[in-house]
Amino acid sequence: MQKQYTIGVDLGGTTITAGLVDENLKIIEKVTCDTNLPRPSEEVEQSIAGLCRQVAEKGGVSFDQIRWVGIGTPGSVNGPEGIVEFNANFGYNNWPLAANMQALLGCRVYIENDANAAAYGEYIAGAAKGAKYAVAITLGTGIGCGVIIEGKIFSGYNHAGAELGHMVIVNDGRPCMCGRKGCWEKYASARALTEDTREAMRQHPDNMMWGLVGGDLSKVNAKTAYDGMRAGDPLATEVVKHFTDAVGCGLTNVVNIFQPEIVCIGGGISKEGETLLAPVREYIDREEYARDSNKRVTLKTAQLRNDAGVVGAASLGDQAGY
Ligand SMILES: [Zn+2]
Repeated sequence: MQKQYTIGVDLGGTTITAGLVDENLKIIEKVTCDTNLPRPSEEVEQSIAGLCRQVAEKGGVSFDQIRWVGIGTPGSVNGPEGIVEFNANFGYNNWPLAANMQALLGCRVYIENDANAAAYGEYIAGAAKGAKYAVAITLGTGIGCGVIIEGKIFSGYNHAGAELGHMVIVNDGRPCMCGRKGCWEKYASARALTEDTREAMRQHPDNMMWGLVGGDLSKVNAKTAYDGMRAGDPLATEVVKHFTDAVGCGLTNVVNIFQPEIVCIGGGISKEGETLLAPVREYIDREEYARDSNKRVTLKTAQLRNDAGVVGAASLGDQAGY
């Protein structure tokens, strides 16, 4: 029998990536292009179609061996109907992405929110493999989240669910672009850690972290405070503790709500590994409601990193209910 493949597309605000994925959920080939926003949705569709054909060709696979194409896109995505209902970054509303791509490619097309697709990737082939109840968190500019319940992506009644980054952890706290104050991502994203590190440095012009960035605040990133902590600096240690407590506070809420078997954390900062995870685990162990249960959540780093979105999107057709 002819081998079968799927294609997963990670549609981002800056780049579009398409990956050719085999039956073992391994990425065989990957191609990327710029998203080039702002431009009309028809042009973005043409770019996606071009990448899909290109990646199949690069992998030596004819398009009739492609079982389906899955696309992870930002926004509120009505997966079953194939419509991106709202996407602020792209400026398209009620975008019938699945039907349009199906017409261009001549194969089945599934779509999903990008964070949900990445979580599905970790569930189907990564850190949360086989865990029917799992949560994938990405600490980046904001906090990206995907929730898997009974092996399926949870997205709520209106497909805007699982926005855990906009759960308030400090009442009347820092203002967020969502309109609320004190959202989790204002304290526990990589960007929040970077900004808090800068602020601590501004207040302490003699601090050793200035030396780590050559005196240039624009070179501060989420790793700076961790590097300072490793060098034994008390201020850096305090910044990291503040950040870790914020991650732990939000995650404990998440665990209390979903009681997942696995929570995995991705994003560049997850490279800190146990340095990041151990204190967060301690926080959860101390405060989680079901801490005496013999079934406890396992906290780990995400495995597929940047490939989670592609693998998850490529696997969307496997999701029951589609
Ligand atoms: Zn918010």
